[in-house]
Amino acid sequence: MPHSDPEDLALVALGEDASPATLEHLDICVLCRDEVATLTDVVDGVRVPAPLQRPPARVWEGIEAQIEQARAAEPIALESRRRRRLPLLLVGAAAAGAAVVLGVQAILPDGGADPAGVELATATLDPLPGWDAAGTAVLEDRDDGRVLRVDLPGDVPVEGYREVWLISTDLTSLVSLGVLTGDSGSFDLPADLDVTEFAVVDVSDEPVNGDPTHSGASIARGELA
Ligand SMILES: [Zn+2]
Repeated sequence: MPHSDPEDLALVALGEDASPATLEHLDICVLCRDEVATLTDVVDGVRVPAPLQRPPARVWEGIEAQIEQARAAEPIALESRRRRRLPLLLVGAAAAGAAVVLGVQAILPDGGADPAGVELATATLDPLPGWDAAGTAVLEDRDDGRVLRVDLPGDVPVEGYREVWLISTDLTSLVSLGVLTGDSGSFDLPADLDVTEFAVVDVSDEPVNGDPTHSGASIARGELA
């Protein structure tokens, strides 16, 4: 079965008359229909949606008059525009510079100090048997709440991902703080969480299995004091 001539398919896509043989073939050939669909998309993308209309004569006359006016005024206009633009540019640059200075000051409120909160407690994270990872956890009181900063450097080969938990000192209940990626992370604490009860910082190896509970595979652990 020979496929339709590409030119015939293009005609169909353009909405022109096609030969009965082409139309007949299109009825039974998916490939050629696809080709027409593709060509139609192209045509629709190119075609001007509404037919072009000649504007009334007075519109042209108006446009021509404006062009003439603009041509006549151009040398002067260019001159004055140039003169006006330089001071504007300078003002713009000054404003941008001020914004940069303000931005830097916002990042460094104390002239370059780290905007850390007040340290409430720290924990030394010791590796659990079978693991070789040690670090620290620092509980900070910041303007917008308490934050636990966890540092667990080193290349720890985990099976899944690392999750940070606060566990009650009797090890019966626990709260997930989030996923630790990289060597360190900061985790917001729930506002009402009693850290004297949930004082054990735990970092676990969690398999990617959709189970939100602790895997039981703790990497490192320490108590806030
Ligand atoms: Zn075909």
